[in-house]
Amino acid sequence: MNLILFGPPGAGKGTQSSFLVESEKMFQLSTGDLLRAELKSGSDLSKQLKEIMDAGKLVSDDIINNLIEKKISDPSVKNNIIFDGFPRNLEQAKSLDDMLDKYNQKISAIINLKVDYSVLVKRISGRVSCSICKKPFNEFFDPPVEPNNCSNNKCDSRELIKRSDDNESTVTNRLKTYDDQTLPILDYYRKKGIVKDVDAMKAINEVTGEIKSIISNL
Ligand code: AMP
Repeated sequence: MNLILFGPPGAGKGTQSSFLVESEKMFQLSTGDLLRAELKSGSDLSKQLKEIMDAGKLVSDDIINNLIEKKISDPSVKNNIIFDGFPRNLEQAKSLDDMLDKYNQKISAIINLKVDYSVLVKRISGRVSCSICKKPFNEFFDPPVEPNNCSNNKCDSRELIKRSDDNESTVTNRLKTYDDQTLPILDYYRKKGIVKDVDAMKAINEVTGEIKSIISNL
């Protein structure tokens, strides 16, 4: 089963993916995480990427499709992928279909995390994650048990980090990019009959419960 977690920045795609990775042993494919890993390399490409990401715009489809194909073609994650933050426009959605065809796979469902935009800026500005295991927290809604301490036994991190594009002005641009380019692709998937709407204004564990119940009925 391959899933797409869909929704605006701050809807909880990363948080819910991390639960599915744990409980369903699925593989999270976050294009944002892959790009942030590239940023750390300090290459010329990474400087261009940072500029685009800090402006809240989309990185070129060629770069993204390349990153995605490397993962889709990996037999160890075949039919067990959660797409998080991809596809982000119609071209990417069509390329994804082509790539999945090529590797004999398909999308089972698009989990559409529905949230009121009014809460997104606060959700995003409170967002931090563990520097080692990437576990997400929110300073307002889901703080760590001890400040700056990832209480995840798998790692021993004392450092929670904030993304450079999680600031108010970039968020506004990211939401506009989402409205203009990403939201319209829901129609593409609705026509295929695979969109499952989830009320993502609910508590994190309730949203997880709804997603698990959708998955068990696929
Ligand atoms: P995210 O972590 O998904 O919020 O992505 C952070 C930033 O990375 C976005 O604002 C975009 O600049 C870039 N990005 C992530 N995924 C994609 C994608 N599928 N297509 C284009 N740009 C992306």
